Amino acid sequence: MTVHFPFQNTYAALPDNFFARVAPTPVSAPRLIKLNRPLAVQLGLDPDLLETPEGAEILAGKTVPSGADPIAMAYAGHQFGNFVPQLGDGRAILLGEVIDKNGLRRDIQLKGSGPTPFSRRGDGRAALGPVLREYIVSEAMFALGIPTTRSLAAVVTGEQVFRETALPGAVLTRVASSHIRVGTFQFFAARRDTEAVRRLADHVIARHYPELSKAERPYHALLAGIVARQANLVTRWLLVGFIHGVMNTDNSSISGETIDYGPCAFMDAYNPSQVFSSIDEMGRYAYANQPRIAQWNVTRLAECLLPLFGDDGDKAVAEAQEIIGAFPELFSTAYQAGLRQKVGLFTERDGDEALIQDLLDAMAKNQADFTLTFRKLGDAAGDPAADDARAQFMDPAAFDEWANRWHARTALEPQSAAERQAAMHAVNPIFIPRNHRVEAVIQAAVNDDNYAPFEELVKVLAKPFEDQPEYAAYADPPLPDQRVLQTFCGT
Ligand code: AMP
Ligand code: MG
Ligand code: MG
Repeated sequence: MTVHFPFQNTYAALPDNFFARVAPTPVSAPRLIKLNRPLAVQLGLDPDLLETPEGAEILAGKTVPSGADPIAMAYAGHQFGNFVPQLGDGRAILLGEVIDKNGLRRDIQLKGSGPTPFSRRGDGRAALGPVLREYIVSEAMFALGIPTTRSLAAVVTGEQVFRETALPGAVLTRVASSHIRVGTFQFFAARRDTEAVRRLADHVIARHYPELSKAERPYHALLAGIVARQANLVTRWLLVGFIHGVMNTDNSSISGETIDYGPCAFMDAYNPSQVFSSIDEMGRYAYANQPRIAQWNVTRLAECLLPLFGDDGDKAVAEAQEIIGAFPELFSTAYQAGLRQKVGLFTERDGDEALIQDLLDAMAKNQADFTLTFRKLGDAAGDPAADDARAQFMDPAAFDEWANRWHARTALEPQSAAERQAAMHAVNPIFIPRNHRVEAVIQAAVNDDNYAPFEELVKVLAKPFEDQPEYAAYADPPLPDQRVLQTFCGT
């Protein structure tokens, strides 16, 4: 038996300037660290075969499976607001696409599999730490129900990569509904290649927005669709305390999935201006700035699409502005609805927004843990004597005052305490990939070749909404000396 991927290669069939054909660089001693067996099955792949030595060679880029047409995709992007006309897959290679069990087309990409024509000064490699980090956090996001790229496998290559020190090299197999980014459009728009922009837009409509192909103005509808998906995505991030950390336009997916888990992190204590990334010195990608940045990114996309909006330039700009102008409302409506669910409100009333904002303000002032406050508020909804939410506040009296107003508000609704608690627990996770846990798991793997902590963390995070009493400690925020203050653009 040999490993078989039923590849299709629709992106590789696009014109030559969309990508560079390049094979992964063979590595010396691939070893499978983790295979995501349920995902393999969902992709129609045989997990047992992927776990054979031949499977590990494929997942490490040592063997190119039959039917693959490996390419590095071309893209540009605004990095921290500065336009770079050529980025591209510098250390990632798309093997091809497979159709999953739901009939959806999914990219299979190796990340860290060697240099490509887009590597610039990079080595095309990935270190083990960032690979494990992406595996953990992307799969946690999936379990939280947030659109995201997935992780099919992590392998170590048997080779070292050199960052500040020598580190074990690794390859992540990333699965995405596509790897097309805002920056992919920018690559062609910057070259004034309108035909390529049109070709890409048509590919995106067919692939991600097929319902729009019959729209009267499909490119306008496409922009509106992407605006809606980005507004939804950033809403979902905020509602779980996720900070992406590097929302450059090349890390902004056209399909609306979270992509690029470099310096990302979940916050512990609620702080709207929280930043973890060491290189985000100005706080451009701070927690509460994310909606504004998502809107900025889709505005850059709109600029690329303008030539497809018709010959009247002024009219095209006005139309694009109107579509982009919907973003703040789309975001705030979804965000407020999500917050109402988080505090257990089944209906919408005047004053709800202020009530919830007062909770958030008190949380910020009292360094309350974001995840635990909402989760334990669910317990308090079920049993007013449960005081773990209160305990999150430096000054618990600040919570008491708010909780009185909250109880008065929830009393206006007919739902039982148990119903309210169940509804809240279904949206407020108990387990998130806390930074200190992710770091500890990486240290054990890198320093001691011990993957048991990684396995356990991945297992706990697969059920983020379920109390798992035997793993209760995973819900705890870091002790002061465990706090991780900075994350680094994993390379
Ligand atoms: P990122 O900041 O992860 O979004 O990456 C920005 C750009 O740098 C992309 O074009 C990546 O392909 C490229 N890049 C990042 N790390 C490496 C590396 N180790 N080797 C080559 N290219 C890289
Ligand atoms: Mg990136
Ligand atoms: Mg990255």
